Amino acid sequence: MSDGGRIGLVTGAASGIGRASAIGLASVGTHVTVADVDTAGGEETVALITAAGGAADFVACDVSSSADVQALVETIVARHGRLDVAHNNAGICPVGYTIDTLPEELWDRVIGVNLKGIWLSMKYELAVMREQRSGAIVNTSSVCGLRATSMTVPYNTSKHGVIGLTQEAALDFSALGVRVNAVLPGVVDTAMAHGIASDEQIVAMGEATPIGRVASPDEIAAAVVWLLSDAASYVTGEGMLVDGGLAIPLPSPISPV
Ligand code: NAD
Repeated sequence: MSDGGRIGLVTGAASGIGRASAIGLASVGTHVTVADVDTAGGEETVALITAAGGAADFVACDVSSSADVQALVETIVARHGRLDVAHNNAGICPVGYTIDTLPEELWDRVIGVNLKGIWLSMKYELAVMREQRSGAIVNTSSVCGLRATSMTVPYNTSKHGVIGLTQEAALDFSALGVRVNAVLPGVVDTAMAHGIASDEQIVAMGEATPIGRVASPDEIAAAVVWLLSDAASYVTGEGMLVDGGLAIPLPSPISPV
């Protein structure tokens, strides 16, 4: 698959899923702007892309800051004249609180990055894509966007909200030539997963997944690259599970087998 000549953006691309999708998009010929709060990691992603023969540059950006996101998109348009594809992926996942014990500051921070950050990213991206009458966006939600996990209050809430924002954007922009979808990963072997679970717990989560293991970031990136490609030209408003079967409802306890 080649989508050469496109101009792309990946947020949260200094690490994990975002780094993998930035590398994946660059491998099909997209010039990728790598955006993240982590400058060292972002520069490392750019180096990996250029070493593989791709094109990328880094822009420091906190997706919860309107000024940062506006400047990010303006920088891309100033440099390249357009924005064809975007993967809005930056996220954080603090755990350990129930609804009654969660500090208000933590609610604001997680919602600010994971939900407001997706809205701000789309706000400025879609303004460009509306003018172009073309574009494609993928937002990173989660299996937690469909069903809650315990002690993960603002994360669950934000990931449910990302699905709503994605559907809203698809409703309003699909007729203008802009497709908007979400990807819903299960458990993925990234710094985020290792920040909230031990190696043993991650292995156990993989074993509890129907496919029998956790995902690699590349497996999520493959879905993102496809959703952003012309091969997905009739797909919009979709929340695509890439979860190894994690969201399949448990068999009924009265099942005969
Ligand atoms: P990761 O920690 O490896 O990567 C997240 C990246 O986002 C980091 O580079 C981090 O610096 C960046 N980031 C954090 N706050 C930011 C901000 N305010 N502005 C810009 N960048 C910021 O984690 P990951 O697993 O690759 O997570 C990527 C996305 O995938 C997240 O939205 C996460 O919620 C989602 N996700 C992850 C899993 C999983 O199991 N790892 C499962 C489902 C969904």
